[in-house]
Amino acid sequence: MKHSKYICVFCGSSHGSNPIYAKAARLLGKEIAKRGFGLVYGGASVGIMGEIADTVLEAGSEVIGVIPERLEKEVAHKGLSKLHTVGTMHERKALMYELSDFFIALPGGFGTLDEIFEALTWAQLGYHPKPCGLLNTAGYYDELLNFLKKSVREGFIKKEHFEMLCVAKSPAALLDNMTAYRPPSLRKWF
Ligand code: AMP
Repeated sequence: MKHSKYICVFCGSSHGSNPIYAKAARLLGKEIAKRGFGLVYGGASVGIMGEIADTVLEAGSEVIGVIPERLEKEVAHKGLSKLHTVGTMHERKALMYELSDFFIALPGGFGTLDEIFEALTWAQLGYHPKPCGLLNTAGYYDELLNFLKKSVREGFIKKEHFEMLCVAKSPAALLDNMTAYRPPSLRKWF
């Protein structure tokens, strides 16, 4: 491995309706490369996934894609440092989690939410100590964060577990928070 840390980024396979989301993907890509880190992501050339991959490559850092066979022919990025092709979506997530030190969600849809919540669920259960973060570009995740606070109030998420999720509006602040992250001692069951 070439870099001290690999940052796994989950993000939209679409561009979204506002160019600010693609801009955020490029800013995060630049910040990852500036810190000497590598990128792990879903391996596609489409949406803001493609934006972040291109930015990190242009800045000279390694980009590792992990894509299931079904999607490879249609949307795989052809210029990555490395592309792992796996059989299933489950294998893909397991490999992305294994290869990475941090997990970040940029704005995105079902795929992005599924990936970051699975990483967070595993952290909550103590399967890994790696930080999970949301890049809350232009308040994209405000309503989701309010809903999660409701889950805390209603007794479905412990406050300590909610606080495991690092949140910031800028890539630099988010990576700083995540670098300072220490997993809580409170496990969900043990
Ligand atoms: P979504 O947020 O629903 O656009 O899904 C994006 C996330 O799910 C990414 O982080 C990918 O890992 C995965 N994903 C969804 N669609 C694709 C696609 N067409 N190609 C590659 N990965 C995808």
